[in-house]
Amino acid sequence: MAKKVLVSGGAGYIGSHVTVELIAAGYEVIVADNMSNCDLTCFEGVKKITGRDDIPFYEIDCCDFGAVNKLFDEQNIDAVIHFAAFKAVGESVAQPIMYYRNNLVSFLNILEAAKNHGGCNILFSSSATVYGETENLPVTEQTPRLPSTSPYGNTKQMCEDILRDVVFATSGSDEPVKGISLRYFNPIGAHPSALIGELPRGVPNNLVPFITQTAIGKRECLSIFGNDYNTKDGTCLRDYIDVVDLAKAHVAAVSRMLDGKMKEDYEIFNIGTGKPLSVQELVDAFEKVNNLKLNYKIAPRRPGDVVAIWADTTLANEELGWKAERSIEETLASAWAWEKNLAEK
Ligand code: UDP
Repeated sequence: MAKKVLVSGGAGYIGSHVTVELIAAGYEVIVADNMSNCDLTCFEGVKKITGRDDIPFYEIDCCDFGAVNKLFDEQNIDAVIHFAAFKAVGESVAQPIMYYRNNLVSFLNILEAAKNHGGCNILFSSSATVYGETENLPVTEQTPRLPSTSPYGNTKQMCEDILRDVVFATSGSDEPVKGISLRYFNPIGAHPSALIGELPRGVPNNLVPFITQTAIGKRECLSIFGNDYNTKDGTCLRDYIDVVDLAKAHVAAVSRMLDGKMKEDYEIFNIGTGKPLSVQELVDAFEKVNNLKLNYKIAPRRPGDVVAIWADTTLANEELGWKAERSIEETLASAWAWEKNLAEK
């Protein structure tokens, strides 16, 4: 029988792409989402792409323990991929209580419900933000985490530690919890069908949605935050990972857990391309591949930005048998196709 995977936050940007890839790999997927930061656009897109109209959908808030526990009562969950969290760095600085409450309580509830139901496999959606402003580049999973500069980053560090501690405490018991944290670098792009993609609310904070919204005319001008950094062209370096590649990394990690292939009961993997790209290079590539001119200007540095960060992906390549495959050109074309598709709705 197909194994059941609960995707919390499954109607969102990354969650919807992961749901598609899990279904393609033969898993049964249950989606839980409180719709606090998305609408049904992506979930409808998932149904179209997969041809599945019957994906169980729970409109629940993972901060509601009763609702989460009931879901576990009703469904025989084999693994959880936990996305349900707030994710805006600036907002987390302004509203720390809201961020700590939401991101920590929802994860604690998932863990407790999983434990109550005989243990489970938990995949936590972490972030390269846990490395902070490190100078050891590229970063490996062993690179020490540095103190985070935002409550958002703190919640990622804390949830990683909570998962590790729960795994340790339940190891060898009748209710073992096994865990993997995937540390994503910069997820961008959209599904090749253009039926699902990123749907930022309000003014986007992230680079690629800001670029596509500028190209379509929703924003007047893109600001490149700083061109006086100590990098080849003066702009910041990041590791931009295609969202479909990222989704496939989740399938590889879930299979590793469910097929009993883990080497430790708690594991961490970097998920990136391993290739740094500057903001200027990304903007140039977007213009070239989509054959358009983007209105942009150089603006002051954005407070809190790290100069450069990219992944050493050896561990994920070797242990998960996964590597990023889509080219930056394909990815940027998909982001633009998604934006154009949205404009037609
Ligand atoms: N960036 C930019 N203009 C924008 C948004 C982002 O120049 O409107 C730059 C930002 O300074 C960083 C990179 O793009 O160097 C990626 O930023 P993003 O917010 O997408 O991700 P982060 O790496 O901060 O998580």
